[in-house]
Amino acid sequence: MKKFDRKRYDAVMKYYSTKSKIMGGFKDGASFATAALTGLAPDGGLFVPAEIPRYPKAVITSFLKMAFHDIAVETIKPFVEGEVPISTLEDIVQSAFNFPAPLAAVGDRLVLELFHGPTAAFKDFGARFMALTFSFLRRGEDKPLRILVATSGDTGGAVADGFFGVEGVFVTVLYPQGRVSPLQERQIAGLGGNIEAIAVQGGFDDCQRLVKAAFMNESLKKRMVLSSANSINVARLIPQAVYYAAASADALKRSVSDHWRWRSNSPISFCVPSGNFGNLTAGLYAYAMGVPIKRFVAATNINKTVPEYLQTGIYSPRESQKTLSTAMDVGAPNNFDRMTAHWSLETLRKIIDGVWVSDEDTQRIIADVHEKYDYFLDPHTAVGWAGLDKLNIRSVMNPDPYAVLATAHPAKFAEIVEPLTGPIPVPLVIQNVMSREPRSKTIPADLDALLEVI
Ligand SMILES: *Cc1c(COP(=O)(O)O)cnc(C)c1O
Repeated sequence: MKKFDRKRYDAVMKYYSTKSKIMGGFKDGASFATAALTGLAPDGGLFVPAEIPRYPKAVITSFLKMAFHDIAVETIKPFVEGEVPISTLEDIVQSAFNFPAPLAAVGDRLVLELFHGPTAAFKDFGARFMALTFSFLRRGEDKPLRILVATSGDTGGAVADGFFGVEGVFVTVLYPQGRVSPLQERQIAGLGGNIEAIAVQGGFDDCQRLVKAAFMNESLKKRMVLSSANSINVARLIPQAVYYAAASADALKRSVSDHWRWRSNSPISFCVPSGNFGNLTAGLYAYAMGVPIKRFVAATNINKTVPEYLQTGIYSPRESQKTLSTAMDVGAPNNFDRMTAHWSLETLRKIIDGVWVSDEDTQRIIADVHEKYDYFLDPHTAVGWAGLDKLNIRSVMNPDPYAVLATAHPAKFAEIVEPLTGPIPVPLVIQNVMSREPRSKTIPADLDALLEVI
């Protein structure tokens, strides 16, 4: 054991609840381990770091020469300092991010492809990092950890895949029976092993309600250590800042060395297709850490709670409405309190443009971009692309580079995309998933039924 070192101790990041106005609440703050393993603060708020660290200047300059994994270590390090040793962090990022995140040039824009992971959506970055981090933080514990997660589709697959085979952790995914795609069902229920899938006779809200009720159940809590894995978890949020830092460096590098088509070497701007706003919040963390980023565009579907807030200053959460970009059908974004805990409305307005996009425009853009550039956008990424159009942002007119975050592979939503484009080449990871046999237990939407099967 290292001897107690005052300076080192002071450098350790503490986490506070958004409900306790950042600094109130629990006196000494929570450690990264506590924040990650409990998920939600005891008062029901979201954990936020006491402050967002800044990279040393020299580190940012050296990003231009660094590999993705080194940028990942530099980005995550200050958030986990004192709890996850550097050598462990290096191992975790190597194994978690074992797929690329390329910045593709499509027409007059860039597309940051975040869908090359095992479940073909950006959620792989957060879920895989979280799984390996949990496994490390719980080393030596003999009581197994049970992760309960409700999903409308994408989260369940990424969490199941991330935790598959991780020792000492069992995952139970609740999904609405008959309301996820065949591919998503196989991602959730096709793994077996330490991953248990439960099809609930009800909707996503019922699944969510059951998970919440299970967390309150005293007898269950006596039997096992429970944790959640939804997108409010800091262990999912922080690793998502990494690809913003890496993409920013990549764009700068290419503008100098590669006869890049933009006449500007201005920092990049990102358009983020958003639902619960975890992805955008992670981008704001990267920005606050000092990554060269000019602006953000927050693009939503008709569930436009946040674009409206940016415009009017009034936050009115509501029921979600169903759209083609299902993973963004969120009327009360769960990261909103986190964004506003760190930044005022004025500040947010200075860095973010909000925009929302209809299903008709989403479909039109999928067809258009395919016709013009022979490139397939999934419905979520198409919302981002269409959002830039709606704001009249085109890189040829405006020399600054803009990147749309591609949050899912188009083949994941083939039933929506293919009628507009023709057949999509299906990547190997998706082909493999389709050959799995889904196995799940079906239960009615009540707590007793859930308690009986877990
Ligand atoms: C989850 C998800 C989103 C929304 O991300 P948030 O972090 O919730 O804003 C967008 N696109 C896809 C494909 C997703 O799975």
